[in-house]
Amino acid sequence: MSAASPITSLYVHVPFCAQKCEYCAFYSEASSGELINRYVAALIRELEMVAPDLKPKTIFFGGGTPSILNLKQWEMVLKAMERLHLLGAEEFTIESNPATVSADKGKLLRDFGVNRISMGVQSLDEALLDRLGRIHSREMVFKSFDILRRAGFDNINLDLMFAIPTQTMAIWQATLNEAMAMQSEHLSSYEVIYEDDTPLFEQLQAGEFSVDENLACEMYEELIAAATNAGFQQYEIANFARDLRAGAPTTETRNQTGIPGLACRHNVNYWRGGSYHGLGPSATGYVRGVRTKNWANTQLYCDQLEKGRRAIEASEELSPLRRAGEIAAFGLRMNAGWPFADFQQVTGFDLRQEWSAEMQQLEARGWGKMTADRFQLTRLGLRFADAAAEMFLR
Ligand code: SF4
Repeated sequence: MSAASPITSLYVHVPFCAQKCEYCAFYSEASSGELINRYVAALIRELEMVAPDLKPKTIFFGGGTPSILNLKQWEMVLKAMERLHLLGAEEFTIESNPATVSADKGKLLRDFGVNRISMGVQSLDEALLDRLGRIHSREMVFKSFDILRRAGFDNINLDLMFAIPTQTMAIWQATLNEAMAMQSEHLSSYEVIYEDDTPLFEQLQAGEFSVDENLACEMYEELIAAATNAGFQQYEIANFARDLRAGAPTTETRNQTGIPGLACRHNVNYWRGGSYHGLGPSATGYVRGVRTKNWANTQLYCDQLEKGRRAIEASEELSPLRRAGEIAAFGLRMNAGWPFADFQQVTGFDLRQEWSAEMQQLEARGWGKMTADRFQLTRLGLRFADAAAEMFLR
């Protein structure tokens, strides 16, 4: 891509939730109608500023809870995107909470080209949903899934969480069985993380429960087995997809064997070191080697945009080697690892020269595997991917 080509990936952060979940460290706040209206106007201004440098193939509205915007607010955002020629992406995903899905909203989103929904399920056990502070019930999950299918969404991701305090293996297996029976196209599943400043972290600190690492590992193994049996292909540590549209690789997944057809193209672009614009409070962007971060404060974000300025708190130009190290680390999260030719094309560096010692160490530990065309983490290595990835940072 030449320096002047527009960026093909767009992330938008919607910083509102009905209430805060116990484990959540994302930037979001309990919603109020007026602030959401102000945010929508500010976001449209930010879209206008970025539009000349944007021709999105992938769009992802994350949060927060993007589905919390009402019909009128969504219509304003989508009409602005239409006016700015930002619609028509190959993949346009919106994250949704099962409690905020409706047939009208589903139809509106489909009409404007949204073609993928990522649904935050987390668990199908009523007591655990309560424990996590989720606002939806298990029944709402099934009902919303049905509404989305009827609205025409044929690409739906389910987010599940494991190693939740008090979750037993039997509960996890029951959730997995029910989730697999829903026949979604994609599955993302993360182990609970105890982030500073969350109620769950404080409860852990106060000794209200303990963490069982062995059980967490067994649950992860169970996840891989259940997903594989259900026809999913794992393509990243926490991500699984079907390959229904065989033979239809996208420009992002070109030359990357081991990536199923219904993998999230937007996320694959992140892991492959691609550029993207990040809009909305707290969003990070990465454009031609420069990383930006917007203010993680919705009032301040709106203030800035209302004055006609982007709401960027910090931007940093990474040196080519540092950037290549980060890109190496991201890409190793994927089962396909890094094909040497692709890595060189994206970064200008040869993985085998710059990181030869690290790759040898990882092979010696049984965490990595080098073949003629690529380096990838083994199944064991993927479990320790964060530690492995750190070795590549410069
Ligand atoms: S709905 Fe998602 S973003 Fe909102 S508080 Fe819960 S986990 Fe965080």
